[in-house]
Amino acid sequence: MVVEYIFVSCHTALSLSGLPGLTYSLNPYTGCEHGCAYCYSPSVLRDRVVAESWGKKVRIKQNIAEVLSREVIYKKTGTVGVSTVTDPYQPIEKTVELTRKCIEILCQHDFPVSIQTKSELILRDSDLIVPKKFDVGVTITTIDQELARLLEPRASPPDARAQVVEEFSSRGVDTWIFLGPIIPETNDDDENLRKIVEIAAKTKSKILYDKLNLKQWVMERLGPVLENLKPGLAERVPAIISQGSDYRNKISSKITSICRELGIRCEAAFGS
Ligand code: SF4
Repeated sequence: MVVEYIFVSCHTALSLSGLPGLTYSLNPYTGCEHGCAYCYSPSVLRDRVVAESWGKKVRIKQNIAEVLSREVIYKKTGTVGVSTVTDPYQPIEKTVELTRKCIEILCQHDFPVSIQTKSELILRDSDLIVPKKFDVGVTITTIDQELARLLEPRASPPDARAQVVEEFSSRGVDTWIFLGPIIPETNDDDENLRKIVEIAAKTKSKILYDKLNLKQWVMERLGPVLENLKPGLAERVPAIISQGSDYRNKISSKITSICRELGIRCEAAFGS
């Protein structure tokens, strides 16, 4: 697939974040080439062009490192989430290295950094990502390579992501696994959940789990994938997770119970 890259200039690098544990968010890119079928980032962006062609157009904030160099001088120190709306290690990062430049600046100015990704490209920056200054979160929704290819077509495969968690954990970096979104009849089976918690247990990582968010545009992209997996599933999913159903409670107790059994800390992301 051809991705259109659009080079832009930004005025701000660090934005105040309302996310738990973060003071700021930093997003070197608008749009995400990983193009996950369930992604709800398009609905939180104010960029309709990118939102409506999610995964196919990416804006590259070419001057973000320069802007950040100025901001770190006068902004109060606080934890920076890299990134919060798109993946900081999506493929174009390999060439333009904006995430690398930014985390280097943050590190030099003692801003703690929390990274979340689905890409093994993060291993390139192992020289910068050191214990105490960084934590690394890796999203793993399924251990089934084929399902991952359908849901997250251009992200690294699940075994490569597990390798990322293992690598940083072995270096003493605080690691966590984002298990989500959990999609009914897709990745919510006991075996899948257990295998992911086992990766967390092996690497002493915390689990953050999340529900499926059916925000604007999600079903337009996810629906055909679900339908292809099981006819009728696209129609069933909204009903299964609707308010009033006890699906979320069931999933929550299932994950909590596996985590307790394996001695892993777990928490619902965003209070889901
Ligand atoms: S990696 Fe994250 S931001 Fe990128 S498409 Fe997937 S869910 Fe969305």
